[in-house]
Amino acid sequence: MTNIILLGPPGAGKGTQAAMLVEERGMIQLSTGDMLREAKDSGTEMGKVVADVMARGDLVTDEIVIGLIREKLQGDKAGGFIFDGFPRTLAQADVLGALMAEQGETLDYVIELQVDDEVLVDRIVGRAAEAVAAGGTARADDNAESLKIRLMAYYKQTSPLIGYYHAKGMLKGVDGLGTMDGVKADIAGVLS
Ligand code: AMP
Repeated sequence: MTNIILLGPPGAGKGTQAAMLVEERGMIQLSTGDMLREAKDSGTEMGKVVADVMARGDLVTDEIVIGLIREKLQGDKAGGFIFDGFPRTLAQADVLGALMAEQGETLDYVIELQVDDEVLVDRIVGRAAEAVAAGGTARADDNAESLKIRLMAYYKQTSPLIGYYHAKGMLKGVDGLGTMDGVKADIAGVLS
């Protein structure tokens, strides 16, 4: 069983790659963004609290996302966990390490998807347009204004995790600018 973190800014391809790993390796994707959107859509108290923060592009509190993750770690572990969009702060990273240890699990790799900011803007704007073209609605935070704040949150609060996991010897950089299959092959190379 392999447990990994996919690390990278919004639009880096974390969700896309996680979905392929679930499909092909029977891993379990733990996306705190998806969990928070579900809470928001189903109108729970917590969902109401996070809606504005998420739409703006800021991070929700460590306490909320840690609560969500803690619950999932006690469930089915299948082929291992893919942490997608979590941890996003050093405090979350510390807690994740402790929670995994409690479960007798180890984190194997932290895969950093490396991309350029210009590509991110194009991908996010494209994702919003695709959602609308498919008859749905775009994510409330997939717009230029929120993206700016999400990118700043990434650089200020999340990118320090690159150094943190490098120091732990767990960091693997993957070029996220290639095709979906190219990136997938590079990730497979790390996991093999
Ligand atoms: P994502 O789908 O990963 O892009 O997450 C969407 C939004 O959910 C983020 O912009 C944050 O507002 C919130 N969020 C998701 N994961 C976290 C996390 N680990 N810590 C704090 N906020 C998060």
